[in-house]
Amino acid sequence: MKAIIFDAPGKLALRKVPEPEMAADEVLIKIDACGLCTWEQTIFAGVEPAKFPFWGGHEIAGTVIAVGPEVSPPVEIGQPVAVASLTRCGDCYYCRRGLDNHCLKAAEKPAGGRPWGPAGFAEYIAVPRYMVHPLANTQNSQAGILAEPLACVVRAVKRANLRNGDTAVVIGAGLMGLLFILVARYYGAQVIVSQPSALRRQKAVALGADYALDPRQEKLVDFVRRHTEGYGANAVFYTAGGQQAIADGLQALAKDGRLVVYAPIHPDSAMTLNINDFHYREITLTGSLMHDHQSFVTAAELISKGVIELSLFNVLPMPFTQMEAAIEKAKDRSIHRVMLYWPD
Ligand SMILES: [Zn+2]
Ligand SMILES: [Zn+2]
Repeated sequence: MKAIIFDAPGKLALRKVPEPEMAADEVLIKIDACGLCTWEQTIFAGVEPAKFPFWGGHEIAGTVIAVGPEVSPPVEIGQPVAVASLTRCGDCYYCRRGLDNHCLKAAEKPAGGRPWGPAGFAEYIAVPRYMVHPLANTQNSQAGILAEPLACVVRAVKRANLRNGDTAVVIGAGLMGLLFILVARYYGAQVIVSQPSALRRQKAVALGADYALDPRQEKLVDFVRRHTEGYGANAVFYTAGGQQAIADGLQALAKDGRLVVYAPIHPDSAMTLNINDFHYREITLTGSLMHDHQSFVTAAELISKGVIELSLFNVLPMPFTQMEAAIEKAKDRSIHRVMLYWPD
């Protein structure tokens, strides 16, 4: 089968690789589409560390084409699925505590000398049943590419203990920010989005944000207080903007509010915090990494119910055969996701 392998930063190739051998407890999936995430883009750019050769592709949508005899619970051939291509051993220190996003086996070198990585940039993938999340048959199977980013957002929202009637601030309105808006609204929160680009603010409001501000025009804390009877936000989700945005977000929190750092800042950077904010205001600064099994289940359900669908976003389909052009295109900020597929 064909696959895209990154040999080094800035160097990739379309390769013929052996088709995956499906074990008795695995499911063989034909990959219908795969999202091109920022993670793979930053690995290709050499910004995010990775082991090379690297086999990317973790926003995987596909169709079941074969099922091993020991697969349980059963899954039908022809079933559209989203794939959570992240090892969860179920038995390590973190898995036992329900923190399977931190599974100690997650980044293990795969057997058989195949390149490291989630391996969705390929025609087929064989995975254990727990990675397979069926989607309602009425869905376009390509909608499954949203399951992984959505699962990450669902997890981050859970980390904020968001309650009905809360006010949530979303900093940044790229694809992740928009997913935060949709999920926070679904959980019953009022949503304020902070985003310098007018075009992105417009899209955020179109998708349900109650208020949008340009952080260059007005201080976030003032804007948020104006819309919360002076209290501030119960949750802030940071997706972009760097240290200043995080500092502004902390200021905009109500007492007992939580700021969840969703995205990394490269390179590592230190910032100064006023410790008294944590004592007197009882605020929480935390983060969220990737998705866990539960949040992936929720994401697949939200897609199956049509709460989140591809048509909400500006998705650009591009063939895997134009991978380098796709990586270039993904830099275009008006495109929410480049969706890779194999041409017939
Ligand atoms: Zn992703
Ligand atoms: Zn584990």
